[in-house]
Amino acid sequence: MTGSEAAAPRDEPGRPHSDRANSPGGDGTSCSDRADRVQLADKALPLHVLREHATKYAALFTRARAEVGHGQCLCQAPALRLVIRCSRAGRYHLAGWPGEGELHDPSCSFHKLASELTGRDAYSTEAIREDDEGVAIRFSAALARKLSDPEPAKASTEPREGRARRTVGLLGLLHWLWESAQLTAWHPRWRRRSWWLCHTHLSEQITGCSINHENLADALYVVPPFRREYARRNTAAFETFLVTRLKQRLDTRRRGLILGEIRDISFTRYGVRYTLAHHRGALFATIALDERLRRSYRPAFSNTAAEHGARRIGLFLVELSPKGNVRVVDMAAMLVSGLYIPADSSHEVVMANALADGGRAYVKPVRYDGSDLVFPDFVLTDTHPHSYVEVYGIHGRESYDQRKRVKQAHYQSQGAGLIEWDVAEPVPDVRRR
Ligand SMILES: [Zn+2]
Repeated sequence: MTGSEAAAPRDEPGRPHSDRANSPGGDGTSCSDRADRVQLADKALPLHVLREHATKYAALFTRARAEVGHGQCLCQAPALRLVIRCSRAGRYHLAGWPGEGELHDPSCSFHKLASELTGRDAYSTEAIREDDEGVAIRFSAALARKLSDPEPAKASTEPREGRARRTVGLLGLLHWLWESAQLTAWHPRWRRRSWWLCHTHLSEQITGCSINHENLADALYVVPPFRREYARRNTAAFETFLVTRLKQRLDTRRRGLILGEIRDISFTRYGVRYTLAHHRGALFATIALDERLRRSYRPAFSNTAAEHGARRIGLFLVELSPKGNVRVVDMAAMLVSGLYIPADSSHEVVMANALADGGRAYVKPVRYDGSDLVFPDFVLTDTHPHSYVEVYGIHGRESYDQRKRVKQAHYQSQGAGLIEWDVAEPVPDVRRR
């Protein structure tokens, strides 16, 4: 392990300073790593300061955009370009330069895997459009519907005209949120991830984004972490979501999205009840829907992963029932490790834990709506070129594993390292040699 890798854990990138001071275990340490510093015009400053005080620095953003045309990330020398965006509400923020995500340091906020290692690459610019204002998503389901109209057929997320999908489905949206907020990545220099940090990253990510021409921040309620001192404020925020977002207007039924960690699923006389961590109210689904979801998202519903510290994340499409209950129309579910890294099976949770315990920096590639895509199970970002991790031997995935072996032979021919684990054997030593 090199000196820099052995450095004391620091905050994950992008963490607002004021929240740090209030966080559990927050120690108020300053973020002095180069990986977190950016430059606007002639001024270098920590990214989290810019994110927290975007309004205060509006004049600096404007000047950098006029004089230089872009911001700069100082995680590498020479510095890398950053896009300066300004939302319709006039809030500035920085984004990675298209196609340059791989060049950033793996611990940097703007680091991304190459486009062939993410399901995002399968969408057209119509489905996910990035411009100077932010990201616009074309979602496959309607977020409002006139009761007098028949239930609309779900817009297809299937690729048309070649590879490009023209809309983003629920699982695609969940993976996009996770990947954009860098929650698919882990670096040993980052502080242990909690729901509190996930919420912070996700909230930053959705600012300035839109979904079906509506503000994503209005359409999506990310369950805030529970703190006694904020309990009343959080309850009020959810009430606002119910009233302003979901309440029926005239003959229009409105829908919204709720993102949270599933704590419990129970059966009642009226159907299935989902309870979420950090959230008091429950969500209700029919037994038929619950059965379909269990078939579609088998790993997230299996009990075996829980003993390895795994959690389940749900993105719910919801509406209000006539009695005022939150009714689940559809859901995408995702199994994640204790550090909220996505995993496709309980074996992958074990591997994700082993990689984190072994001090490795890694990313979990996610498929979005492309269930047939073949990616490595994990990509190690602390080697050059990146190495890959494969977990083999999950019953029922033989043909998939076979396709992966073909792909791995290709990567290895290009010099990439490979760690393989057949789950019938003990977990291999994954520490960096
Ligand atoms: Zn960078």
